[in-house]
This record gives sequence, C-alpha cells and structure tokens, in this order.
Amino acid sequence: MVTKAGVSDNKINWSITQQHQKNCVADSDQLQTAERKRLLEVLQLLLTENETELLTALYKDLGKSAEEAYASELAVLLQEIDFMKHCLNKWQKPKHKRHIKLSSVSKTTVEHHPYGSILVISPWNYPLQLALMPVIGALAAGNSCFIKPSEFAPETAKLLAELISAYFSPDVLVVVNGDATVATELLELPWDFISFTGSKKVGNIVHRAAAKKQIPVVLELGGKNPCIVDETNLTKAVVQRIIWGKFLNAGQSCIAPDTVYVHQTVYQQFLQMAVEQIKQFYGLHPLEEETIGRMPHEKQFEKIVDFLKQGSIYYGGKVDATQKSIEPTVLTDITARSSILYEEIFGPVLPVIPYTNLSKLVHELKRTDDPLVIYIFSKNKRTIEYVKTKLRSGAFSLNQVILHAISSDSSFGGVGASGFGRYHGTASLETFSYERTIYTHLLPFNSQKQYPPYQSNDLNLLRKWRRWLF
Ligand code: NAD
Repeated sequence: MVTKAGVSDNKINWSITQQHQKNCVADSDQLQTAERKRLLEVLQLLLTENETELLTALYKDLGKSAEEAYASELAVLLQEIDFMKHCLNKWQKPKHKRHIKLSSVSKTTVEHHPYGSILVISPWNYPLQLALMPVIGALAAGNSCFIKPSEFAPETAKLLAELISAYFSPDVLVVVNGDATVATELLELPWDFISFTGSKKVGNIVHRAAAKKQIPVVLELGGKNPCIVDETNLTKAVVQRIIWGKFLNAGQSCIAPDTVYVHQTVYQQFLQMAVEQIKQFYGLHPLEEETIGRMPHEKQFEKIVDFLKQGSIYYGGKVDATQKSIEPTVLTDITARSSILYEEIFGPVLPVIPYTNLSKLVHELKRTDDPLVIYIFSKNKRTIEYVKTKLRSGAFSLNQVILHAISSDSSFGGVGASGFGRYHGTASLETFSYERTIYTHLLPFNSQKQYPPYQSNDLNLLRKWRRWLF
C-alpha cells in the first residue's frame, strides 16, 4: 500500500520521479550555501511546528513515550541541523592544495560538489530520525533527496510525506511511501547516490542494484553488539546504563547492547542488579504500561517470542500477542547452537552469558560478524586495549552505551557486515559530496624538458629535480 507523492496504487508516478531527478537542485545550478541553510531551516521548522503530531505518530507506530521519542528522534535531528548550519560555510570553502613546490607554475584547489539526486531508504525502528538524518547531510551538501520510509511505521511515514510535500518543493525533497516492491522499482532509477539503512539482507540487494549502475552507496546495517562487563567495574550506574540502552525502544536499536558477557565472579550479582533495575524502570507489570514499546509486525514479534524459548527466563518473559509487546526479559543458560547466539536480537530480550577467560571470549566473538559497536565496562587498561585491538567494530564505547552515536561531531557507521560509509555531521557532508580537484596552470610558456624527444641526460635531471619539484 502506498500513499504519497510519486506513488499511487503501488505504482510509481514516473513523471514526479523523473521531474525530481531532472530538476534536481544540484544538477547544473549548484545551490549556494545560503540556500542550503535556508532548506535546513525549513526542515527545522517542519520538526518544531509539528512536534506534537510527530510524537503522536511515533507513539501509534511503536508505542514510544513522548520523552523517549523526543530525545531519540527529534532532538538528535534538531542538533544535527544546528551543527550543519554552524559548520557549512567553513566546510564548503575550496581547500587550497600544494601541487608542486614551484607554486608560481600552478594553483590547485579541492572543491566539494553534490552528487545530485539521492535516494534514502530507511527502516522502521527510528522512523523519523533515520529517514531525515541522511537528508540533513545530503541537503547541506547541495543534493536533492527522495525518501522511501519503512512501510512498518505507517503513521510516521504518512505524516512525513504530507509534511514534506507541504514544506518543500518536489525538486528538492520528496517522500514516496510503499513496500519492498516500490523500493525495488526505485532501485531501477539512475540515482546519483543511495543511502540505505536497514537489514544486512536488504542491504545486499541494494548494494547489488547500485553496483549494476555504478551508483555509490552508504550502507548502515545491523549486527550483534557485544557488551563485556569484567570483574573490575560492576556498579549500579553501570547496570543502569546497560539496562537502559538494551530496552530503549523495546530493544529495537541497531546500537543496543545485544548480549552481555559478564565475568563469572560477578555474574550472579549482575543478574540480581539487572532485575532490580528493570523493576525500577518499568515497574512490576511492564505490559500494562502504554509506552513499553512494541514490535512493528507479526514476523518480528514471533521471532522474538521464539528467542524466549532458547534459554532459561531469569526475569520477565510475558508477552501480549494483541499488542505485539514483550516484557523486558533476561535470558540465561542459552542452549548451544541457538539462533539467538548469532542472529541480531533487535527486541527486548537480554541474554546474559558468563565468561572466565577473556581471550576465549574474544576468540568466540571473532567468529561472529563485525558489529556496529563494542561495549566494554572495565577499569583494567590491558583488558580494554586487548578487546579494542583484537576485535573490529564501527565504534568502541568504554563504560557507556548508545551515547557515542548522538554527537554530530563524530561519524557513525559500521564495518564489514555492519555496513560501510560514514555519516552524521561533517562525515555526512563528505559522504554526500564528491571531491573535485580544480587545477589552473599559470605559466604561458612550456618547459621543453616535459616533452619528447627526451635527451640522454633527462632521466638524471628528473631524479635530481624530483625532491624540489614535487
Ligand atoms: P529492512 O532491511 O527490512 O528494511 C529497510 C528498508 O528497506 C525499508 O524501507 C524497506 O521497505 C526497504 N526494503 C525492503 N525490501 C527491500 C528490497 N527488496 N529492496 C529495496 N528495499 C527494500 O530493515 P528493517 O526491518 O526496517 O530495520 C531493521 C534493521 O535495520 C536491523 O537489522 C537494524 O540493525 C538495522 N538498522 C541499522 C541502523 C544503522 O544505523 N546501522 C539503524 C537502524 C536499523
């Protein structure tokens, strides 16, 4: 089912789509920095003027509380816009480069140019943030954008389409709503760049489609983020951070701690503290809370319910099939070879696994796909350094979860199976533009040594000149 600009009755309206691509702001007539800033301000206005409607849509889709939705969706977008407006002038200036030492011969600068028309495909778990975060960078870098939000957050997708068509010209920004068939049709178009956030499986499809046309892509995918708690740093604050990060958005965050590995000596203590913390956050009957969060569709709900059978339920475990919600659950004694050990959980189930030997644990983790982030809670510098150097991940976070991703000043992205390419802040500007070298030759005459026929001593001369010329 589809609802908005560019699409009707599950068929893409090619005239709007083609018009968008043809008229795309970046094609010939590059947007001036002031105009880009104006577009960012329009987006800012859209978010602030429609805050209540957006928070309501997020609640309807995923049962998010207004506080959680504001902090994790709207606030990060508003901060990103402020950051872009602040750094755009400086970033956009051509950078002078030394070409050869004899600088009077030539002048070289490097400019950032927009790619043109960018397709943004986004997932359902943070349906507003993840649809608009790439758009902020893409617009700031001078591109036009076409957003395909997830069909599994339909209220947010529908509202976003309405608001964007009311605030923006379709030459600059369009939302097209629909399911995988619509996304498949969109992938047939000659985009200048594709930004994809979602699962590894669909990421592969998008990557293949883009490769056929040599379209550059950024892939922001998922994975299993391990969280290691050693024997040196188990405190109430640590447990509070982990439980908050895990059960935020009902565990449906790509950077949630997926599984916690706790040193055997503090394992029981961790479990007891985790249960206390869950009770403090969500009360004794979490399913009765309206804002506990829910799964977006039946398949996802059933997948998480199946995970509950793969170990012993230490705490929680109740489900509400009508609401598609599941209690924050702690799972222990995971059955060997269970799928929960290698599949991304993406739900409110926290496996807690004891370990005694760090190098054995690291060896096990090495056999799983590279995650978006590794979390470690420790005071032992050697342990921290060991885990950091032995394992790969998009980010490494010491003594905290989730918060590494909220700063516009540092880039965000995966490595290996968790994706490639970076965005957020200036990383977005770099990603959504290409560098163009502008070379100007200043001398009106030629040095004949540059041209054939070469003389017998020319090679020796070149060897001598190399150091002071280049
Ligand atoms: P998904 O891959 O199923 O869907 C993402 C988008 O792709 C949706 O808009 C969907 O309509 C579209 N799509 C589906 N089939 C398609 C096809 N054949 N061709 C083209 N597009 C298609 O992902 P999801 O279930 O919406 O999101 C959950 C996944 O996203 C998790 O794995 C999670 O870790 C990951 N994720 C990653 C990040 C990140 O920043 N790295 C952020 C959020 C979620």
